[in-house]
Amino acid sequence: MNIDIQNLSIDQIQQAFKAKKFSSEQLTKAYLNNIKKDKTNSFITINKQALAEAKEADQRIKQGKGTVLTGIPLAVKDIILYEGLKATAGSKILENYIASYTATALQRLKDAGMVVIGKTNCDEFAMGSSNENSYFGPVLNPRDHSKVPGGSSGGSAAAVAANLAPVALGTDTGGSVRQPAAFCGVVGLKPSYGRVSRYGSMAMASSLDQIAPLANTVKDTAYILQTMAGYDPKDATSSNKEVPKYIAKKEAKKLRLGVPKEYFSDNINKEVKEAVEQQIEALKSKGFKVKQVSLKYTDYALAAYYLLMPAEVSSNLARYDGLLYGLMADKKLSLEEWYNTVRSQGFGAETKRRIMLGTYILSAGYYDAYYKQAQKVRTLIKQDFSRVFKEVDVLITPATPSTAFALGAKTQDPLQMYLSDIFTVSANIAGICGLVLPIAKDGNNLPIGVQLLADSFAEDKLFTLGNYIENEHRG
Ligand code: GLN
Repeated sequence: MNIDIQNLSIDQIQQAFKAKKFSSEQLTKAYLNNIKKDKTNSFITINKQALAEAKEADQRIKQGKGTVLTGIPLAVKDIILYEGLKATAGSKILENYIASYTATALQRLKDAGMVVIGKTNCDEFAMGSSNENSYFGPVLNPRDHSKVPGGSSGGSAAAVAANLAPVALGTDTGGSVRQPAAFCGVVGLKPSYGRVSRYGSMAMASSLDQIAPLANTVKDTAYILQTMAGYDPKDATSSNKEVPKYIAKKEAKKLRLGVPKEYFSDNINKEVKEAVEQQIEALKSKGFKVKQVSLKYTDYALAAYYLLMPAEVSSNLARYDGLLYGLMADKKLSLEEWYNTVRSQGFGAETKRRIMLGTYILSAGYYDAYYKQAQKVRTLIKQDFSRVFKEVDVLITPATPSTAFALGAKTQDPLQMYLSDIFTVSANIAGICGLVLPIAKDGNNLPIGVQLLADSFAEDKLFTLGNYIENEHRG
């Protein structure tokens, strides 16, 4: 059976199920076939149970017990645990690690009937902006194989863009879902901090991490959030705020829009800047109220992020010592030799760089100068957003300073690489939510994304505006 699986949305799949055009099993087979032929290196592990899960979903639909997600294939970043499947976090140190339980967010999607198709490639422990830090090799951008897909959820974004799965999960600590979404031309949502349980997502920087969906449409990310959001007793930082109905249609034009001037400097790629400006003009011409605002601490966000994040990384990654799980060393070694062997052989260069940086930042002599100072900046950035969100509902910014860059272009210069996160890290620092969707292409036919930001727990506003732009008016 030949199924056209180009850019399928969840609604389209459900309609096809209803019309008996294809079953979940047939659909899953079609994606698995695409994965077999794929050249992007998006997957680390294929779920051998995928077809069995799909059959089960078909049964459930037949019995009239399906949800909107039943039978929908899902690709999962390899940093999120799914019981019984390998979970490597893109690292040699966990090359053969099998997850012993399932992350809460993923379990909720499973309970709704989703089919896990496989685990996607990512930068090691979610550290990177190009997916070139994976032990399992780089992921190629499906739109142009000479370009990076973005990172660290590069495999998840590429999987959706290359029609290897209609929906994927990634994690976003500083932009790792939004930046690859922009580079690959798909939709990526970073939920507010605390909206989704982090239980079962291997921690990179716990005060910044969120599990986050990637999909072909804005509505699809809303469906996913609707199901996975909400309090989880296993994650003390998950919020017990009620999960609203995200799918309800709301009037987009009632939203007050803000354009933060600091996000439109001349240092960013001209085509990206123009596309976003054009989108803003288009919204204005449709009667949206748009106001220029200022987020004056924006310039300090990246510096604060690259202090806070490695500090947390150095502490979170201390657990990978090969004593309980993962890479082991020769049993004859002394404890110190064991640690040295496992950690120096198991971690890649970028991970080591951040562990060292974080350890330095947290050490007695430097804690006040770096860590404490960065925490103060974090508060200022949060206050900046709180003030602005009293005046506007949604901020519109570029998602990235450029379109997808060439493989290898920034690997020798970490600072250049870190600059790719300049527009995304602030949302994680402040704990607010953000949505990226494609709005245009550059001269080389590479996607350009727009970023929408809203206050904590105001995801509904992102969906309303995102939906409007996607369906009614791209710039
Ligand atoms: N690119 C950023 C970094 O390397 C973001 C990572 C992420 O969001 N997981 O830290």
